[in-house]
Amino acid sequence: MLTVSDLQMRFKAVRAVDGVSFSVRPGETLGLVGESGCGKSTTARAIVRLLEPTGGSILFQGRDIAHARQRELRPLRRDLQMIFQDPYSSLNPRQTVGQIIANPLIVQGISGVTAKVGELLDMVGLIPEHADRYPHEFSGGQAQRIGIARALATRPKLVIADEPVSALDVSVQAQIVNLLEELQRELGLTYIFIAHDLSVVRRVSDRVAVMYLGRIVEIGDRHALYDSPAHPYTRALLSAVPVPDPKVERKRERIVLQGDPPSPAAPPPGCSFHPRCPQAKEICSVERPLLQVHRDREVACHFPLQPDDPSAGRPG
Ligand code: SF4
Repeated sequence: MLTVSDLQMRFKAVRAVDGVSFSVRPGETLGLVGESGCGKSTTARAIVRLLEPTGGSILFQGRDIAHARQRELRPLRRDLQMIFQDPYSSLNPRQTVGQIIANPLIVQGISGVTAKVGELLDMVGLIPEHADRYPHEFSGGQAQRIGIARALATRPKLVIADEPVSALDVSVQAQIVNLLEELQRELGLTYIFIAHDLSVVRRVSDRVAVMYLGRIVEIGDRHALYDSPAHPYTRALLSAVPVPDPKVERKRERIVLQGDPPSPAAPPPGCSFHPRCPQAKEICSVERPLLQVHRDREVACHFPLQPDDPSAGRPG
């Protein structure tokens, strides 16, 4: 469905995305995780071409769209849509909900707009009468449902959900995640699900990619990656996720990383994680590790953790 190769996104000296490569298979959910500022949202924006990449290729349904012109992108937008983090700021406050959901249908020249808007509202758990109201009249969760209806209006194949629940109350988050999962089953959607909340990513993803300072450091099957992380950064991220079982939680080792992630304007030489890595050795500050196949996943580390390393597993 999608193959991203060596994607680069630079803003002057800042390498926000620095050689990201991954593929997404039809019908799966790829989770993209990492601390804020690691480049995951910029990757998303480049894929849907809200930004033009400064390098690399984005093969979507067999076509490289990395540098396609807006005119060429229009027919592809039907199949490739995005759900944004903040539902309010992504919905035009001066338009009714009906107009907001109708926009992509009109742009794509799809007929029967009024009936389709009603169907879409129903599909996301709202009612057709909501079409005449304005975004501010809705709660955060309802506003995100409107954003989802808009994204699904053209019946896309690939949907990129950029932190779709992180601006919502915890009580509402599960409802929106459930809705996204239901819609995936009903419509056969493929998702890229971006979040910093690892519990949510674990729940929804088939495979997970972990980003650090503009690069993917580990990518693999969700179970394999959560049960035995191979990259020290993945292990540290997972060690911060609480475990529901209090007995396991008490025994759990938590890895506290020293310092903040370095600035993408001045990434450290070699492995960009080396100033914070508990496993770092001399070579790590000199030679950049490439993403390579290791056991059942790909890892960018000179000394990937082994499953029998007692500190590599994450209980629960
Ligand atoms: Fe740590 Fe070295 Fe692996 Fe980087 S390459 S994650 S510094 S062990």
